[in-house]
Amino acid sequence: MKIGVVGGGQLARMLGLAGLPLGFQFRFLEPSSDCPAANLGEIIRAPYDDAQGLERFACDIECATYEFENVPAETARWLDERLTLAPTPRALAIAQDRITEKATFRELGIPVQATAGIKSLSDIASAVRTVALPAVLKTRRLGYDGKGQRVLHASEKDAAESVRVAWVELGRVPCILESFVSFTAEVSQIAVRGRKRAHTPAIAFYPLTQNEHRGGILWKSESPAPCDPTGELAASAQQYVKRLMESLDYIGVIAVEFFVTSAGLVANEMAPRVHNSGHWTIDGSVTSQFENHLRAVAGLPLGSTHAHGSSVMINLVGRAPITARLLEIPHAHVHLYGKGARAGRKIGHVTLTAPTAQDLDDPAALLAQLAAWDS
Ligand code: AMP
Repeated sequence: MKIGVVGGGQLARMLGLAGLPLGFQFRFLEPSSDCPAANLGEIIRAPYDDAQGLERFACDIECATYEFENVPAETARWLDERLTLAPTPRALAIAQDRITEKATFRELGIPVQATAGIKSLSDIASAVRTVALPAVLKTRRLGYDGKGQRVLHASEKDAAESVRVAWVELGRVPCILESFVSFTAEVSQIAVRGRKRAHTPAIAFYPLTQNEHRGGILWKSESPAPCDPTGELAASAQQYVKRLMESLDYIGVIAVEFFVTSAGLVANEMAPRVHNSGHWTIDGSVTSQFENHLRAVAGLPLGSTHAHGSSVMINLVGRAPITARLLEIPHAHVHLYGKGARAGRKIGHVTLTAPTAQDLDDPAALLAQLAAWDS
């Protein structure tokens, strides 16, 4: 079976690497020629909204997916009319707009912080009445890796004026003002839901992952999450994500990011795709998130999400350390994406896997030193 993937970046590359052993072939829609997915399948080199490119991409394929959530809505609709696009355009549309996303969580009883929309100057006064500082102002659309955000501190003298300045800095585009959540940890729940209802399990959950960000970019993921020794947080994350997937009739892998607070989980955002905080599953679980995503998209039975032990993943950002040095680290699995060095760019990751978290303390410290970022 040939699977279409919109995008040819590192997530597309890892989908390809997971799918080739199962006999899948790939076709990627990607405007740049020198992309990480090159060599893993056919590349249709065209913009994501190019009519001719889309015709060539969709020709003779039954199902397609995407590796990033900013796929143009019109492209998603067009593909959905011709083939099975998974996850659905509805899930994509929710993830593309932070206001719709928070509203969806709220409707489903998934806890979120106070939020208010800002479309024009006249919305700011009422927004700061609903959301007191400290707060975070974010663009409604197209934000990623902490871009398109401004933190507003409680010490600001004039809240409305500070929000106005931040809104102008963000380009006067539609924004969301969110209460700053004073969290003790950040976690993500990665789950997969299959396409065929006759297959069991219908939904499978990976162990909860704890994430640490630096400058808005994911630095480190640990699974199982050290902040959840009793499994209580995992149980509530699974309950929320199950509700979300069932209400959207979701197909494929989803990642939902949560803040851990003294009152429990607060949902931050969802990604309708394979996710960086699930990269550890390649080396640390029975079936990786990439393979399970493809199985779901293709209508095949899901694989076990059981973890072999403990995993720690650290992103390589900006430039990669010498590969030989990384390979000297005990338990290291090195993944390089074939991308050139550039500040702030994710160019690879390293996962450490071992039977227990204690086994990983020293190797993780060494890896953290070597992987020091140029971001
Ligand atoms: P996001 O793009 O929403 O995933 O935000 C990137 C990172 O910024 C998050 O992982 C948090 O570390 C931080 N962050 C975002 N929103 C908030 C918030 N409302 N309160 C506290 N920290 C936040």
